[in-house]
Amino acid sequence: MATLTGLTRGGKTWTPQFITAINYAKCLGCGRCLKVCGQDVLGLQALNEEGEFVEDEEDEEFERKVMTIVNIDNCIGCEACSRACPKQCHTHSAYEQN
Ligand code: SF4
Ligand code: SF4
Repeated sequence: MATLTGLTRGGKTWTPQFITAINYAKCLGCGRCLKVCGQDVLGLQALNEEGEFVEDEEDEEFERKVMTIVNIDNCIGCEACSRACPKQCHTHSAYEQN
């Protein structure tokens, strides 16, 4: 196992902290993290009263929207989403390669 690392422009090693989860219970659906992520990793999705994801937001009733990970493979591990979040919803970790 080896931790995936990158290089800065100046050649220093850094370790990307990739997104692994979002805490829906704490999420306000404010969209701040969505705005700062430049990699289209995140997306708002609707939850119904039972806390289940709604398939069709046009047709089905929903209670609130929460931020979800929709394209995890696009993440570059920059942690901008976490810095923008007022509720510390995001979890990150380094990536261990086989
Ligand atoms: S760590 Fe960076 S690239 Fe990954 S979801 Fe957060 S803002 Fe987007
Ligand atoms: S910034 Fe935090 S509270 Fe706002 S939508 Fe993103 S995860 Fe939810």
